Amino acid sequence: MTTERPTDGHPGNFVADLVRQELAEGKLTRPLCTRFPPEPNGYLHIGHAKSIVLNFGLARLAPDGRCNLRFDDTNPETESTEYVESIQRDVSWLGYRWHGEPRFASDYFEQLYEWAERLIHKGLAYVDTRSEEEIRATRGDFHTPGAPSADRDRSAEENLELFRKMRDGEFEEGQAVLRAKIDLQSKDLKLRDPVMYRVRKVPHHRTGDRWCIYPMYDWAHGQSDAIEGVTHSVCTLEFINHHALYDWFLAALEIPDPPRQIEFGRLNLTYTVLSKRKLQKLVGEGHVEGWDDPRMPTLAGMRRRGYPPEAIVAFCERIGVSKHDGVVDVGLLEHELREYLNRTAPRVMGVLRPLKLVLTNWPADEVETFALANLPGDDSAGSRPVPFGRELWVDRDDFMEDPPKKWWRLAPGREVRLRGAALVTVDEVVKEGGEVVELRCHWDPGSRGGTAPDGRKVRGTIHWVSAGHALDAEVRLYDRLFSVENPNAGESSFLDHLNPGSLEVLHGCKIEPSMVGAAPGTRVQLERTGYFVVDPDSSPAGLVLNRTIGLKDSWAKIAKKASGR
Ligand code: ATP
Ligand code: MG
Repeated sequence: MTTERPTDGHPGNFVADLVRQELAEGKLTRPLCTRFPPEPNGYLHIGHAKSIVLNFGLARLAPDGRCNLRFDDTNPETESTEYVESIQRDVSWLGYRWHGEPRFASDYFEQLYEWAERLIHKGLAYVDTRSEEEIRATRGDFHTPGAPSADRDRSAEENLELFRKMRDGEFEEGQAVLRAKIDLQSKDLKLRDPVMYRVRKVPHHRTGDRWCIYPMYDWAHGQSDAIEGVTHSVCTLEFINHHALYDWFLAALEIPDPPRQIEFGRLNLTYTVLSKRKLQKLVGEGHVEGWDDPRMPTLAGMRRRGYPPEAIVAFCERIGVSKHDGVVDVGLLEHELREYLNRTAPRVMGVLRPLKLVLTNWPADEVETFALANLPGDDSAGSRPVPFGRELWVDRDDFMEDPPKKWWRLAPGREVRLRGAALVTVDEVVKEGGEVVELRCHWDPGSRGGTAPDGRKVRGTIHWVSAGHALDAEVRLYDRLFSVENPNAGESSFLDHLNPGSLEVLHGCKIEPSMVGAAPGTRVQLERTGYFVVDPDSSPAGLVLNRTIGLKDSWAKIAKKASGR
């Protein structure tokens, strides 16, 4: 990682440094071109965001730089247009524009096929008609060299004829593959005559029934890069052992000035799983409500949770790019999130666990409207009118009948400030069946707006909502989906570590009337409570808010310390 901030205003990382140097030395013979190559077999997650931010960021290093979006759609069994569409939506949402139209590896099937024939002509590829198990068994391992198939020495003409039969559907699945003819002795197992094509009699979401042979990842990827004029093919570290093969195919095809593969460490996060297979399982088995469940680390889930794309991009830039895999503390992501929301999310008052507070010396039908700052400390954000009256809602958690020292909130006989409105004192606690149902209070008529007339100090300030004006809301309190730092570790299934308290739904919450008609996606800070976003499930009949993340709560910290936890 570089320590100095580069002068071009783009993030510094080892890949960017390398590209900068090549640009400075005039080494590129065509426009700088990167690509983001998802397989459309799931939704994008925060790990993909790291790759997106890196690839699209690199393209900005040159005025004519570009980044393609290419779907690596070579496995028809697992891919679908739902995923193709969600991926485009999510990349756009992060704020990136790919160069031209989205591209698809499947658009190159014809070219890849022709190139495969070219390798056969050159004696560099052959059809192996043994079973896949047999092929695997004779490939050897690190200690044992591979053993050749009798098919390896067939003539180019014979191979061509067999390969065309493969394409024409004359072989069933598992009866024949096309393999590159490289080196069965190689220490690099990937170079031991890797498979280039398999027979798969499965329709493809874009090419339909046109093909019954499909290229393997290694054969498709570098060649697709070459077709698009990609200069830097940036991928995660697990592809480092594909690197020699990537280069071999391009050399065998005599591609001039071939693209170059560069590996970086993938993102792992504490308390999170990022493997697509595991995310599939969470969705498929109903542990969450879908790919866009606000607890999912998918971009669709994070959007619904209330993450602003800017916070995700800022996080990806902040963690940098390394040549090693590492695990990032999810707290860092949450820090970027709070940081951004603190600056941008308008303040609103909302009471999640309502308790009635009655001001006995306030006339029953008198309503006063106070102007409260949308972003305290930032006058440019303006203010909003908030109605106030005799009957108010306050949060149950802000009252204690028999409080300890250092409790500055509501308690019998203590004076507290209702934010921006009035100073009030609890005179009487009304109970029903042992439960507190109402606080009867008086206010100091000299404290209109919340300031003491004699300058006396009132430490506690709490939020409130006028009972006559409150909007009813359903509030979904989300927490981390997993309760352990590394849900992937150990013998047990990651599913054993699901946090049973990852969702708590509250009904009958009371929100100040300025949120009437707020559109889904609207982000606010409920003062003293946390950051929330309006869920698409909201309707004129009822507001639904998702908790994006809580504020750092100082009382919770004191209580935690006191209880020795
Ligand atoms: P998974 O391994 O979870 O199934 P994937 O790598 O197969 O994910 P792709 O659709 O192939 O998913 O990924 C598209 C691009 O995103 C690839 O270049 C891949 O290297 C990159 N990518 C995927 N996961 C991460 C991650 N956790 N961190 C950084 N980049 C990632
Ligand atoms: Mg992959």
